[in-house]
Amino acid sequence: LMDAIGSIISRIRGSTLIDEETLRSILRDLQRALIRADVDVKLVYELTKSIEEEFKEAKELPPGLTAKDYLVYLLYRKLTDLLGGDKEPDVEVKTKPYILMLVGTEGSGKTTTAGKLANFYIKRGLKVGLIETDTIRPGAFDQLRQLAERVKAMFFGDPSLGNAVNIAKAGLSRMISSKADLIIIDTAGRHRNEEELLSEVKEIYEAVKPNEVMLVVDATNGKQVGAQAEAFSKYVPVNSIFITKLDSTAKGGGALVSAVKTGARIKFIGNGEDIEDIEVFNPRRFVARLMGMGDVESLLDKVKAMEEEEEVLEDIETGKFTLLTLMKQLEAMGKLGPLSRILQMLPMGLMPQLKELNDDQLMNAQDRMRKWLSILRSMTKEELLNPNILNASRIRRIAKGSGVTPRDVRELLRYYNEMSRMMSSLKKSQRRLGSLFRRF
Ligand code: GDP
Ligand code: MG
Repeated sequence: LMDAIGSIISRIRGSTLIDEETLRSILRDLQRALIRADVDVKLVYELTKSIEEEFKEAKELPPGLTAKDYLVYLLYRKLTDLLGGDKEPDVEVKTKPYILMLVGTEGSGKTTTAGKLANFYIKRGLKVGLIETDTIRPGAFDQLRQLAERVKAMFFGDPSLGNAVNIAKAGLSRMISSKADLIIIDTAGRHRNEEELLSEVKEIYEAVKPNEVMLVVDATNGKQVGAQAEAFSKYVPVNSIFITKLDSTAKGGGALVSAVKTGARIKFIGNGEDIEDIEVFNPRRFVARLMGMGDVESLLDKVKAMEEEEEVLEDIETGKFTLLTLMKQLEAMGKLGPLSRILQMLPMGLMPQLKELNDDQLMNAQDRMRKWLSILRSMTKEELLNPNILNASRIRRIAKGSGVTPRDVRELLRYYNEMSRMMSSLKKSQRRLGSLFRRF
């Protein structure tokens, strides 16, 4: 998938213009790549269709953004959405001891994953205990014991206790008395039949009451992982998902998408057999890497700037007037050209006193605009959004930062206060008028 997406990006970059035909063929490449990665066909068509529609609907592109940029950006956003949006999973352990139970079919990578998770959290300063309850697979106890030794986690596993539930209970009380912060319970993935396996999983679940059940799925199963999640969900709540072996399959995309669709959070991905091959799953980062990081990052900066502008426009429309709004307005005015020209564009009556300025006064006003911009740029975002916090010492700092006197800063604040009073009374009278008219 990585290579395929990469070559699609270079195709977009390499084309002289994105006409109907180019767009079609690029989207066809994307469809092929996703279907080969075992992503559900219906989802693939929905995705490409929405990209096509949004691309065509964008009549006016934000300044500085070319059609190619926009297509790359759409691709990024749609793929990110498909993989769960921009929510980074919360992997903090909040209550202690925290009991995490791993479930999944045999060979999915549970035991290896238990070791990886232990290592991950020990590095973050937690005391971790590992419990093995797999009495079916020969060597399971030794496998986890060795991993525990390697990462310096506590270990419990006593096959002589006979069954998995007894081992889980004994292990739990041992780990609690040893003051483990995080207790990871590994389970079996195979029994004589599926029913037997799932019933055991359920019994362990009821005996230990874990804070979280994490389903471990193998990415080589592609879109089948959704069905696995469903099967386990009938017996225990599946709270989160760990996808292993993303390093060794072309079907990773399908596995990820299918896992997202179950509604459980994908928390981690495994990309190798080593204990260090574990990564918190962040859809944005994942897609950015898929597309070639640098490319996406500079693009996102542009889009962010554009979104900020939209925010300001919204603020003005809803009557929210902050120093940030003022700054953006001044910046926009700066781009429009000399003040005298801007004044001609202002609606009559908005600032009558400004319209009567002579040339000298205009020059002064222009200087003042420049000065105010530099003052505003010396403020923090917090200060721009809440001018109320601007006390004497902040004002001194800002004055120093922008090479003006505190008096200049105060003058700006006075102007701002006047403006915002004007805006809100304007708003109020509009509302009053509006309610008057509604009565008729
Ligand atoms: P379990 O039966 O669910 O406990 O699975 P195991 O932990 O015993 O793992 C089964 C096989 O998958 C082992 O050979 C592991 O080394 C391998 N494995 C686990 N996670 C990964 C991974 O992220 N990448 C790769 N390439 N192999 C993995
Ligand atoms: Mg195992």
